Amino acid sequence: MPLTAPDTIVAVATAPGRGGVGVVRLSGPDARRIAGALMGDRPLTPRTAHFARFRDPQGAVIDEGLVLWFPAPGSFTGEDVVELQGHGGPVILDTLVAACVHHGARPALAGEFSQRAFLNDKMDLTQAEAIADLIDAGTRESARAALNSLQGAFSREVNNLVEQLIQLRIYVEAAIDFPEEEIDFLSEGGVADDLAGVIDQAGAVLASARQGRLIREGLTLVIAGKPNAGKSSLMNALAGHEAAIVTEVAGTTRDVLREAIQLDGMPLNLIDTAGLRDSPDRVEQEGIRRAYDEIRKADRLLVVVDSLEPEVDLTDLAALLPRSQQELDHLDLPVTRVLNKADLSGLEPGAQPAPADTFALSAATGEGLEALREHLKAVAGYQGTGQSRFSARRRHITALEQALAALAKGRDQLHQHAAGELLAEDLRAAQQALEEITGAFTADDLLGRIFSSFCIGK
Ligand code: GDP
Repeated sequence: MPLTAPDTIVAVATAPGRGGVGVVRLSGPDARRIAGALMGDRPLTPRTAHFARFRDPQGAVIDEGLVLWFPAPGSFTGEDVVELQGHGGPVILDTLVAACVHHGARPALAGEFSQRAFLNDKMDLTQAEAIADLIDAGTRESARAALNSLQGAFSREVNNLVEQLIQLRIYVEAAIDFPEEEIDFLSEGGVADDLAGVIDQAGAVLASARQGRLIREGLTLVIAGKPNAGKSSLMNALAGHEAAIVTEVAGTTRDVLREAIQLDGMPLNLIDTAGLRDSPDRVEQEGIRRAYDEIRKADRLLVVVDSLEPEVDLTDLAALLPRSQQELDHLDLPVTRVLNKADLSGLEPGAQPAPADTFALSAATGEGLEALREHLKAVAGYQGTGQSRFSARRRHITALEQALAALAKGRDQLHQHAAGELLAEDLRAAQQALEEITGAFTADDLLGRIFSSFCIGK
């Protein structure tokens, strides 16, 4: 997928602020010419440092430093790339960028260098995302996982699945051409076994991807429930002796508190909804709207119920929430219910009454808490520290789930009339979902969404 007649882009590649060295990066067909305009035209040896003075369009020296030239295709983006290494001050670097723009470069958009690297087949989409994840990594574990992804660990597993699907598709398409024998062909010809094998492998990749995302982002849990149900007590109990850091969510400081804890090494982000209340105040309403934006992105809703409260209908979520929080009922998040104060109500701590995912416990004594902790790790798919083989994002997991759903559908239809046609369609859908992960297949707006979340200069 080579780019057609791209322009030349420029951006500061080093972090904002002051440092010993700052790097301005140019990429595109005019990179070499523009560098020449700044430093005076002279020969450059590829991948070799050259000392130079950089001049503005009027000829005044802006800075002095090193120039590195990476001719296409042997560069990060696959295009001609020049790096100007000056001193790391914002005025100098901005002036250098402005001089490059004067000579015909365009300021790069967020993630545009990585996007060009992807479009020029220097890396696939998961690898490009891994660069951002590596840079953003907050722990050694997540940095290690991101580096594995960057080196292709995730892509290899996905490509391996795609390869197997292609083989299956060839087989199934052949079966469709012999309708009289099709059913036998499919049910006895090893297709079922192969399909089961692919489903197992895709399941394993999904589990690894969930680990990778968990290590990166953690599980985000919204805690809700009526006043005095024991929400704060439960948050403290879950945090236990592990350091609880209370942070304020930007822009919603009045309404949502986020607490980041770890559950046996799994990052757990707790969002406290105590600040969500009915208010006629316009500013407060805006804060609450933003709080809901935050909450909507969470993974799960944890509803705390006081088990002393008589006759509660546990299946009626809205009835378990204060009026100001009833909007949570419409968010379509998976729900875990906690029947708290088991020590007072006589419920057996650790019991799991109906409906599903309901836990009786005492936040005060800690009895029954272990079952909830295990449940949260299980729903997140957490396997313990050191188990993440690569980093992954929510979109990868969604795609893997879609692929698995299509494969499972194909398997269930295997013995039906015209199973071949149906299976062929399911295999095609599964392959497409997998190829969205690596970017071999991309929906129109996907690239824009991914790369626009990168910083400028990446
Ligand atoms: P919140 O308003 O939902 O955050 O509730 P709190 O966590 O502040 O708890 C309200 C009251 O119930 C406090 O006095 C707590 O000590 C008490 N409480 C919370 N959980 C339990 C529990 O499991 N058992 C008992 N006996 N008291 C509890």
